[in-house]
Amino acid sequence: MKSAAFRVAALALVVSLAGCKKEKEETDTSKVPGFDVSSLDSAAKACDDFDAYANGGWKKKNPIPGTESRWGAFGILDKENKEVRLKGIIEEITKVQDRKKGTEEQQIADYYQSFLDTATVEKRALEPLKPYLDKINAVASLKDLAAVTGEMQKVGVETVIGFGVEGDLRNSKVNILYQGQGGLSLGERSYYDRTDSSTVKVRGEFVKHIDKMFLMASFPDATPGQTILDFETKVAKLQLTNVELRDPVKTYNKMAFADFEKLIPDFDQKAFADKQNVKTDTVIVQNKPYLQNLNKLLKATPIATLKLYTKWQLLSRFAGYLPKKFDQEDFRFFSTVMRGTKQQKGRVERAIRSTDGLLGMPLGKLFVKKYFPEEDKKKVSEMIENVRTVYGERIDKLTWMSDSTKAKAHKKLKAFTYKIGYPDKWKDYSTIEIAPDKLFENVISASLFAHKESVEKIGKEVDKKEWLMTPQTVNAYYNPLNNEVVFPAGILQPPFYNRNADDAINYGGIIAVIGHEFTHGFDDQGSQFDDEGNLKNWWTASDRANFDKLTKRYIDYFSGIEALPGFKINGALTIGENVADLGGLTLAYYALEKSFNGKEPAPIDGFTWKQRFFLGWAQVWHMNTTDEALRNQVQTDPHSPARDRINGPLPHLKEFQAAWTCGAGSKMILPDSSRIVIW
Ligand SMILES: [Zn+2]
Repeated sequence: MKSAAFRVAALALVVSLAGCKKEKEETDTSKVPGFDVSSLDSAAKACDDFDAYANGGWKKKNPIPGTESRWGAFGILDKENKEVRLKGIIEEITKVQDRKKGTEEQQIADYYQSFLDTATVEKRALEPLKPYLDKINAVASLKDLAAVTGEMQKVGVETVIGFGVEGDLRNSKVNILYQGQGGLSLGERSYYDRTDSSTVKVRGEFVKHIDKMFLMASFPDATPGQTILDFETKVAKLQLTNVELRDPVKTYNKMAFADFEKLIPDFDQKAFADKQNVKTDTVIVQNKPYLQNLNKLLKATPIATLKLYTKWQLLSRFAGYLPKKFDQEDFRFFSTVMRGTKQQKGRVERAIRSTDGLLGMPLGKLFVKKYFPEEDKKKVSEMIENVRTVYGERIDKLTWMSDSTKAKAHKKLKAFTYKIGYPDKWKDYSTIEIAPDKLFENVISASLFAHKESVEKIGKEVDKKEWLMTPQTVNAYYNPLNNEVVFPAGILQPPFYNRNADDAINYGGIIAVIGHEFTHGFDDQGSQFDDEGNLKNWWTASDRANFDKLTKRYIDYFSGIEALPGFKINGALTIGENVADLGGLTLAYYALEKSFNGKEPAPIDGFTWKQRFFLGWAQVWHMNTTDEALRNQVQTDPHSPARDRINGPLPHLKEFQAAWTCGAGSKMILPDSSRIVIW
């Protein structure tokens, strides 16, 4: 739920599709309808609110479970993958006797056991935290604090200044050290300055939450909540907004490590780096003024406050692994207050998810053996090639782009690589120490492993084969540094990909998803990277200006949509995803039309293939969401809310208007002059 300490430019550029039963094999060609008509609400009008029409019935039948903040195809598949399939895999492993130390089976079974062993967790209370607390208590100067902050970063505690390692945006074959902003408990700076009543309430609850955590921990500091909120508010004011963070050029400031140190001289970066074993003479700094201003702020803040803040971040980071009272209070604030989730999942479900979080790749190896049919790789690669072909045809038809830029766009398109299902090679995790009665130390060991692995990459060649998602993840991503699209096994299932469904539904689902990821290579960020994954301009100035004009109009269009009262969509934050949706949908539509070779299929359930295509699109995004989660999404997530992902692009597609024969007065129709076609 909380964001990781590593929040750097390159990582922020990897764009995913969404913020989360083996089919019976059929050899014949008969297809079953991939859309259940009882999901419709025929009282709603397709041309006025397509989401209400296509998903109204589904929404009524599928209220949000108490343990969730939103509920849709992603969450349902995720639950199936984790709480049914992974559960079965883990339970089988735990039955095996004599597991050899250091094997993946031993690690999985013993970690799972350590999470379930609540008696030991209760008995040990805060004792596991003691070595870290002692270090914080011993801090006497900013220099000491920098060293302790380095220690904290190694185990995933949020810090106001963070290091991360990724490919160099301008030389994507080599890994380099990045420095970025961080350390905001509420995740995003707008939480600290919005004045609407729900955000004010979140801040009030945040203060109470910290106070309660400190009280339960019997720390001597009385009511530190307000002090910590005040400090985080000052930090937030210095940080870039999530829209500013989207600019890969402005956030790329390569410099000598010695010059970086001079930007924040009082917060000893050498000590911070040494504690983390970071050895490099070059760093890419996200935002120079942040470091300069942070230096002033840290100097002006009493050391006692900075120690309080560090203690708070430590306690918060590990609350889920501490006795029940901490775990529940952490859930109350971060899940109930911030996202509207009423009830915590059971310990067994959480143990599975925690094991997945820690040992996701070893589990993924077992998952794909059991649940990913090899032949899907071939089918999906065919689909990817279809999308590539149609994308090329669309580029040729663009009226706003010159031939010389088109040639470069083709070059980039041709260079796209892809990964399907699961990694070709699996990493070795055997050095992570896992014991069945040491939950906290297990988490520490895994954190140190990840940190060490990351730090050791500095200066080395980028491993282009590495996966940034586990195979069981219900999601997909585009990585501009590799110019690659990646589709984990987890998403290659209904309703996204239904081996037995009619084509129109699959094109509205998985093919639109593939098109979405391809379009990320040509969105506001991806378009700034060339065919080799380097941040390098390949556009003529006038083509770039045309592109910017089109995206600006699409930003304004989405900024006019209210997600819920008082919370409008941030068009600039969501532009990359919105462009990808519009492009993905268009590509999939034309790929489908092309696949018929002029022989159109008969209607199914009374719907033409054109209509079914849009029903397929609406189906993958059907979702019920709590108001709290919706507000959180609008403030922090580059993806628009589900309803607006479904409805938002449709008025721009004359194909939608034709499919549903929408009249001129319909709400989901725009005049030709207002329609935006980018890709
Ligand atoms: Zn996306």
